[in-house]
Amino acid sequence: MNGDTLSPATRAVALGRPPREPGAPVNPPVALTSTYIADGTVNYGRVSNPTWEALEEVLGSLEGGTALSYSSGMGAIAAVVGLVPVGGVVVAPRHVYNGTSALLAEREAAGALTLRRVEAADTAGIVDASDGADLLLLESPTNPMMELTDIAAVMRGLRDGATTAATPTTPATPATGTSRRSARPIVAVDNTFATPLAQQPLGLGVDAVIHSATKYLAGHSDVVLGAVVVSPHRPDLVERLHTYRTLHGAIPGPMEAWLVLRGVRTLHVRLERASATARLLADRLAGHPAVARVRYPGFGAMISIEVAGDVAAAEAVCAATRLWTHSTSLGAVESQIERRRRHPLEATTVPETLLRLSVGVEDPEDLWTDLDQALRSSRENA
Ligand SMILES: *Cc1c(COP(=O)(O)O)cnc(C)c1O
Repeated sequence: MNGDTLSPATRAVALGRPPREPGAPVNPPVALTSTYIADGTVNYGRVSNPTWEALEEVLGSLEGGTALSYSSGMGAIAAVVGLVPVGGVVVAPRHVYNGTSALLAEREAAGALTLRRVEAADTAGIVDASDGADLLLLESPTNPMMELTDIAAVMRGLRDGATTAATPTTPATPATGTSRRSARPIVAVDNTFATPLAQQPLGLGVDAVIHSATKYLAGHSDVVLGAVVVSPHRPDLVERLHTYRTLHGAIPGPMEAWLVLRGVRTLHVRLERASATARLLADRLAGHPAVARVRYPGFGAMISIEVAGDVAAAEAVCAATRLWTHSTSLGAVESQIERRRRHPLEATTVPETLLRLSVGVEDPEDLWTDLDQALRSSRENA
């Protein structure tokens, strides 16, 4: 089927299925095989698998490129970082996902690369830091600070030099502002929070999109999987990433790929519901006496709040919820809440009282009632 003319919602449902022949199954099988009969296009289970291919067809179509699936989101990120030559330069926002941040810091400590940290919302700063870099690794919205990067403006800035990207308050520096850059870094965007339904970075000129499919794509807290989707303009990167995956072996299991594909079928309806609820909750949280600050980008189903009071008050909220699950991870049908600074790897610039809320698909009023009572009880105990 030619998916190009169909809407993303329809493609999420209709692609990645076996040919419509009488008696054929409607879903791809979970292809549990480590090897294949000789002389075909694939010879071994570390190279490819029909169940991955079904998932990759759908993810590729939703993001507008060629998808490769990995054993986890971190497997996908490590593969993209693996594109950087030894001694190369990587630019990444201060508040990228803490696993990404720790991986880059570990690689830097090992002498494999140099890391330049930037602020996610600072277009001119990102463009300037990218001068001479090998990889620009963005994430928007950032996890868990919910900062946004103007991806289109960054791509324009990389193409034209810093001048056009500079905000009116930032004077363009002649050194970078007047000369066109001959080579720009590989640009990758972690699109986990936005999902391809809200944001398609490849259409903005980005080279590769990364997903922790563990989150929204799978959507049911039952599987860990990752993906990279590469721009049609970069077949060289598809080739390199495929070789890297085959040699490093961060491949998904067929059952995991199947579960993610099953989750993707309902991505649009889950996200529609969760996003509408998130909007409602963000509005109400902004007026709540126990909430000092709401970080909500205006779309999607993730909200971060800063609890009025101290760490104990923030922890008390998580302990007092009955419906919201106190657990790490996000993007599932069930709503989740977590104080991110519980994790030693989290950036120390993330406020101690910040709670990350992943809004699920439960009844909005039930979610509000539970959150409201948890926030009130934390205040009473403070
Ligand atoms: C969870 C997450 C990852 C890591 O993905 P795993 O599937 O847990 O390995 C990467 N990026 C973001 C934004 C995430 O939220």
